[in-house]
Amino acid sequence: MKTNHKILFIVALMLIGLAIATITNVALNFREYGYSNAIEKSKMTAEIVRDGLTAHMVNEVMDKRQFFLSNISDLKDVQSLWIVRSDNVIAQHGMGIPNERPRDAIDRKVLKEGISAQKITEDSKNAVLRVTIPYIASANDNPNCLSCHNAQEGEVLGAISMEFNINDVRQTGAMTIAKIFGINLLFLIVALWVTNHYFKPYIHLLENLQQGIKRARNGDFTYRFKTTLKDAGSEVAEQMNTLFEKMEETFSGIRDNLSTFMSRSNISCSDPLNSTGIIIKELSDVYKFKKTIELDSSKEAIYDRFIYVLQERFHFTHFALYEVEKKSKERKLIYITDHSSFCLPIVDQDAMECRAYRTNSDIYSTDFPNICQNCSVDHKEYTCIPLNINDDLALILSYSAKNTTTIEALNLVLPSIKNYFEAAKAVIESRTLMDKLRDSSLRDGATHLYNRRFLEEFIDKTTEQALRSHLTYSILMIDIDYFKMVNDTYGHDSGDVVIKTLAEILQQNVRKSDLPIRYGGEEFLVLLHNTTSEGALQVAQKIRTVFAAKKYQFGSDTVEKTLSIGISHFPSDADSIWKVIKFADLALYEAKHTGRNRVIEFEPRLFSGGDTF
Ligand code: GH3
Ligand code: MG
Ligand code: MG
Repeated sequence: MKTNHKILFIVALMLIGLAIATITNVALNFREYGYSNAIEKSKMTAEIVRDGLTAHMVNEVMDKRQFFLSNISDLKDVQSLWIVRSDNVIAQHGMGIPNERPRDAIDRKVLKEGISAQKITEDSKNAVLRVTIPYIASANDNPNCLSCHNAQEGEVLGAISMEFNINDVRQTGAMTIAKIFGINLLFLIVALWVTNHYFKPYIHLLENLQQGIKRARNGDFTYRFKTTLKDAGSEVAEQMNTLFEKMEETFSGIRDNLSTFMSRSNISCSDPLNSTGIIIKELSDVYKFKKTIELDSSKEAIYDRFIYVLQERFHFTHFALYEVEKKSKERKLIYITDHSSFCLPIVDQDAMECRAYRTNSDIYSTDFPNICQNCSVDHKEYTCIPLNINDDLALILSYSAKNTTTIEALNLVLPSIKNYFEAAKAVIESRTLMDKLRDSSLRDGATHLYNRRFLEEFIDKTTEQALRSHLTYSILMIDIDYFKMVNDTYGHDSGDVVIKTLAEILQQNVRKSDLPIRYGGEEFLVLLHNTTSEGALQVAQKIRTVFAAKKYQFGSDTVEKTLSIGISHFPSDADSIWKVIKFADLALYEAKHTGRNRVIEFEPRLFSGGDTF
């Protein structure tokens, strides 16, 4: 129901209630008043009849009383009138003419009790008041009743009964009620009209406000309020219009700015107020994420945090994150939620087999079943997203779900995930660069082997842990025999070729866990991890023979070179790696001293004990 109708309905209800109360009150009072008036009238008539009969009695013309009584009966509203004699009077003066015996129970009751009685009989057409009044014997009356009647003081001598037509009373009452009803109806109509006329503009303004605010809730502030009201009403409309104009202006600015984020976010633009709140929350979360990862020391720590966001904020349960080295096209797994792989093994060897990476576009299984030939995921649906970091590096995010509804819900948050990735991108790039710089400062530029600085850091970090964990290292100290001669005879560049060849031979002949290091000019050190003395000797001999077998063509000369190698062991020879390196050096010196092109293991006799470490 409209507000306007509601108010009119309430006003009408109140007025009708008031009218019913008034009419009921008037009707009851009127009936009461009308009936008591009729009773009074009948009593007066009875008095007149009694006095008239007494006068007939005194004048001894009782036999003429019928004329008097019939005249009284002709009075207006007197429907019938009769006299009733008591048994005592009948005994003294006879039955009367006509028969004046009691006619009904009321007559008998009044004769017996001496108290007047009345009764109203009503039907739809008539209303009749029946009144019976007793005549009581009294010596005080004038004339003295007891002088004529043989009766006691207070004895009932007779009664007069009358029936009055009280239709007039009823009709007048009905007329009055009808008039009151008419007046009320008129008042009701006027009141409703006035109410409607006075309240309608307010209600109209209220409805406008309601409509305008409803639209404003959805971010639409174009509504303008109109009113015919003066004073407060027009002021409200004016102020609301000013407010809406300002809001419209501000929000059109916000909408323009939001569109920048909308393209990268999963928030709809239909309610800019709500969207702004969500976007600000998301921007704040992304900002906090960025601030946090800026303090992370490595690329791996940033990846970990990105994985945390996927799990905790976006509730990803089945996903994998891969890193692609663009130059080598190698794809490395960074994280996977369960053991089942997303792709066939071929993709790990050649990133170009990854459809998302090759096409640089998002791959949705919901677009086309079996969209990627190399996908081996257990679940029905999957999505793979390439996330480019720079010219060297890209990430691939793959996630899956058992059904279409779940994957579509995850796809919906993709724009937000990309916002996080965008925030992380620059930081990952700078960490990668730092890693590279750091790596280059720890490597030798010519051979790409680790340098002496790396060895120093490595030893600082490793010694204590190696002792605690009972790790063993064997040290090979390697020096090219008569190397100076190469430089002197064939030039420095030829010398460099020999050095690089030795570096390659070292890399090819040790395990991945072993560390070949360029220790000095043409001196190399190899840290062999967890090797026995025999094992270390074998590796050293192998390096020596492979290097010795190598032939160099310098000009017209074919040149062969040899190596001398000294070996020592940590911690069996000494509990300090530096000391063990020194021992390897002593063994190398021994190899040089005893003819070169040989491998010598350190023995305590080689150490004079003069040096301190
Ligand atoms: P020995 O058998 O006693 O080791 O004799 P050697 O001639 O090898 O003597 P030594 O080890 O002292 O020679 C080191 C020479 O290596 C001196 C230096 O000019 C040369 N050298 C050091 N670094 C480089 C380098 O990077 N390139 C070239 N071409 N030569 C280098
Ligand atoms: Mg040397
Ligand atoms: Mg040398």
